[in-house]
Amino acid sequence: MGINKEGLTGVIITPCQKEYEEARQEWNRAVQKFPVIIVFCSQTSDIQNAVRFARRHGLGIRIRSGGHHYQGYSTGNGVLVIDVSPMKDIHLSDSEKYVVMEGGVRNREVYNYLGEKGYPFPGGTCPTVGAAGYTLGGGWGYSSRFLGLGCDSLKALEMVNYEGKVLNADENCNPDLFWALRGAGGGNFGVVTSLTFKLPPPITAVTLVVLEYTKPGLEEMAGFLEVWQKWLVNLDPRITINASMYNSPEEGLGIFGRGLFYGSAQEAAVILKPFERDGAVLNYRELSFFQAMEIIQSTYPEYEKFQSAGRFVHRMYGAEERRKIVTLIKKRAEGSVYAAVSVYALGGKVREISPVSTAYFYRNASYIMGIQSVWEDDCYEESNRRWLYPRFQYLKGLTEGSYINFPYNRLPVYEKEYYGGNVCRLKQTESRYDPIHVFSFPQAVR
Ligand SMILES: Cc1cc2nc3c(=O)[nH]c(=O)nc-3n(C[C@H](O)[C@H](O)[C@H](O)COP(=O)(O)OP(=O)(O)OC[C@H]3O[C@@H](n4cnc5c(N)ncnc54)[C@H](O)[C@@H]3O)c2cc1C
Repeated sequence: MGINKEGLTGVIITPCQKEYEEARQEWNRAVQKFPVIIVFCSQTSDIQNAVRFARRHGLGIRIRSGGHHYQGYSTGNGVLVIDVSPMKDIHLSDSEKYVVMEGGVRNREVYNYLGEKGYPFPGGTCPTVGAAGYTLGGGWGYSSRFLGLGCDSLKALEMVNYEGKVLNADENCNPDLFWALRGAGGGNFGVVTSLTFKLPPPITAVTLVVLEYTKPGLEEMAGFLEVWQKWLVNLDPRITINASMYNSPEEGLGIFGRGLFYGSAQEAAVILKPFERDGAVLNYRELSFFQAMEIIQSTYPEYEKFQSAGRFVHRMYGAEERRKIVTLIKKRAEGSVYAAVSVYALGGKVREISPVSTAYFYRNASYIMGIQSVWEDDCYEESNRRWLYPRFQYLKGLTEGSYINFPYNRLPVYEKEYYGGNVCRLKQTESRYDPIHVFSFPQAVR
């Protein structure tokens, strides 16, 4: 199809170009969509032109930064993708009180930049996730209980709106937009071009914590969950970990957990004591924040094919529920190379903020519980998706609310699930800042 690209600036990729095949891919290779135009923007004016162009031509818009959306909502069939990944500027401002980054900066680039200056950062775990996509959805990472979610450190944002105009958002300027962008901002209100974060104080060392249980039975896994949920009550806010109870063809059942402690290895060992039992290997290494993040990031693959979703847990589970939860992964889907139920600690600083202070609603949850299946061969896609659905339904019955950064396409009342008691205010904000729904995707706020 011939497309008249007049009015567009930036690097423009269309289906007839050899670069298209790679340019249309997301990190989750199970997502296979065919946009009509992808515009790689390196400055704000490229984004403004792309918004105006899409509207003139009646094209749907998707916004993309790191391309890690679980369901691929940063792309789509027949749409124009505004890809901000070339926008990489990052600098300190105001006597090193803030770090300012453009919309295309990824986790790894933040850690590289701040790490050499000795600053930690409440970013995510995967090096190639976009800092924008991560933060606009809340942003859980290994510093969350100590420094808050990614969005909790935001001081200001800059955004291109549905008319192609630049808006600023902070506590004083467009405060309702600033509220909405902290937890519900991904793809809903406009294209975020710049994010300003308050910097935490520099730090010389953290402790990287790793815990592993090799060859646990289902009973040990259920026991782990029992320890986990009790452990989180009144837990020292300086520690944040996650853990996966998994089943893989090579290893069978296993548990792998890790995280960061903002303190010494000695203190970390005392805090992790409840997890010490037969078959458990716990490891503590004092490192610079940057070194710890390097080690964590090095474990991620270049891409995957997966289906995954995450829910908020607000209560303790009884023995029967714990047994049922771990039994979800007893059998993998046909062709699955990894199946897991994972838990991500919340509380600490996350809970100190009121659920209505930002769009991220589920502040009082104890942890996030995710379920995941990974496959390699496309012929197993259906069996893996079929495997996940009833298991997700079971977890949904035990939990309250879905985490927007771990979204699921089969949520009927998705706005309520993602935003809980903040839905009404979000809808009002959406109709104010994007009254004709120029920015949309299958689970957009409407
Ligand atoms: C391997 C992996 C590990 C992950 N680990 C974590 C984790 O530890 N903690 C966590 O909280 N999440 C995690 N996530 C989820 C991740 O944070 C979200 O998927 C996030 O939205 C991805 O951002 P992105 O920019 O990479 O993705 P994209 O697909 O580019 O964007 C994601 C969403 O944000 C929107 N968006 C992106 N950029 C902008 C922008 N500039 N302006 C407005 N909207 C924008 C998109 O339209 C889309 O809706 C992980 C995901 C993967 C695949």
